[in-house]
Amino acid sequence: MDDRALMVDGNALAGELSEVFSQEMTMARVACGGCGAVEQLGADHAYIQAPGMVLRCLHCDQVLLVMTRTGDRLRVSLTGTRWMDL
Ligand SMILES: [Zn+2]
Repeated sequence: MDDRALMVDGNALAGELSEVFSQEMTMARVACGGCGAVEQLGADHAYIQAPGMVLRCLHCDQVLLVMTRTGDRLRVSLTGTRWMDL
């Protein structure tokens, strides 16, 4: 199966992100650490059918954000992101 079949847009991460950030995150701008493109989080590609949720750049497929839940803790990694504008 093509990975794209499992892809949805970044709006799918809104619920989980609302637990961490007080603002509406799908409108936040994210700068890709790979290609430098800036897009609204909701426009990037999300993969939610995995042990964690992954957001990838819609231009170069760089992993921008990973969220994993273990018990009552939510871990958020922004390693692939240059910056996020809230
Ligand atoms: Zn990119």
